[in-house]
Amino acid sequence: MKKINLLIVLLFSVSVSFSQTTHILCGKLIDTEKGIVKEKQTIAVKGNKITHLYNGYVVPRGGDVVVVDLKDKVVMPGLIDMHVHIELEYDKKARLNKYILNEADIAFNSVKFAETTLLNGFTTVRDLGGTGVNIAIKKAIKSGKIPGPRVFTAGKSLATTGGHADPTNGSSRKLIGNPGPKEGVVNSVEDAKKAVRQRYKNGADCIKITATGGVLSVAKSGDNPQFTIEEVKAICDMAKDYGMHVAAHAHGDEGMQRAIIGGVKTIEHGTYMSDKTMELMKKHNAYLVPTITAGKEVEEKAKVKGFYPDIVVPKALAVGPQIQGTFAKAYKKGVGIAFGTDAGVFKHGNNGKEFGYMVEAGMPAMETIQAATITNAKILKMENEVGQIKIGFLADIIAVDEDPTKNINTMENVVFVMKNGKVYKKK
Ligand SMILES: [Zn+2]
Repeated sequence: MKKINLLIVLLFSVSVSFSQTTHILCGKLIDTEKGIVKEKQTIAVKGNKITHLYNGYVVPRGGDVVVVDLKDKVVMPGLIDMHVHIELEYDKKARLNKYILNEADIAFNSVKFAETTLLNGFTTVRDLGGTGVNIAIKKAIKSGKIPGPRVFTAGKSLATTGGHADPTNGSSRKLIGNPGPKEGVVNSVEDAKKAVRQRYKNGADCIKITATGGVLSVAKSGDNPQFTIEEVKAICDMAKDYGMHVAAHAHGDEGMQRAIIGGVKTIEHGTYMSDKTMELMKKHNAYLVPTITAGKEVEEKAKVKGFYPDIVVPKALAVGPQIQGTFAKAYKKGVGIAFGTDAGVFKHGNNGKEFGYMVEAGMPAMETIQAATITNAKILKMENEVGQIKIGFLADIIAVDEDPTKNINTMENVVFVMKNGKVYKKK
């Protein structure tokens, strides 16, 4: 008899929690699909989904309803950042880290960075390269063990020998081995295929290549092409077989062109993109991920003596100031713009600064928010699940104090965060 009673109690408590509905009263609500700000709306959330949308404030009587009052806030879908490095945060010691940090240290750091990212309104991110701990972090977040954004990860980036993501650049030859496809270093078409398959096996969701030199690697060139077009093509074709898209870090124009023709979906940074390459981007339906915040950061930190290794400083001073101007030009020319920051090059949680920089460069505020929601969702093939406040979509919902179309800097101060129907922040 006791057993039956207990069973009834258990069944009852389970059914109660499943039937609970949250009604979010929104003073203003951004419709990212239409690009408009609506007044006085109510969002109903049940489980991890949005179940109803109402004009006006609707609070049902009775039943198991939790009311979230955001009547003095501006509500919008959770933001998506297409370029973060959840494992790291650049500081003076960054160069030493590969010798002093173990995977467990990296994991604990990532837990903190992931939480910070989520609490600043980014409910989904694409991680473009780390040691592979990022794959474990993704799983831990997905299974609810730690708070963080939904992660799409490239695992370890692919580079050529001495290229931007060769993990042994600038290291003593006594300490380093000879990295190959397994470690993400490729030097032929065959290597390229093997490296993609290895990423798939490791649990990556997409592929990142370093199509040209980069700023923060301990190497001379920040913009030379570093893959042959055949290698890029092999990587993109192979990635397609596994349902993955390819993102290419690129500053120099030649490497960028090879990447676009080779089939990559997004160009990261795009610093020295020529008019011809912008046309190529449009023709191939590729998106620019601007990372202006990272450009500003490296320019500023390059002026701090000893912050970067000497070989990095001239690259940071040359590349940093270019990025915003190139973005302005590309936007004007009609190149597809995604939203991505390169968080990790600067402090995690400051991702929202990118909005202000994009607006400063000429992109209307509403379009910057659409880039960070519907455009990014489309690239991640999640356009029917995230990026909009819509019935049936995942309940990724955030809020800020002011209307961002009037003051874009409000995006740096997110006051409410719900992901998958769960509230993580309410000020
Ligand atoms: Zn990056």
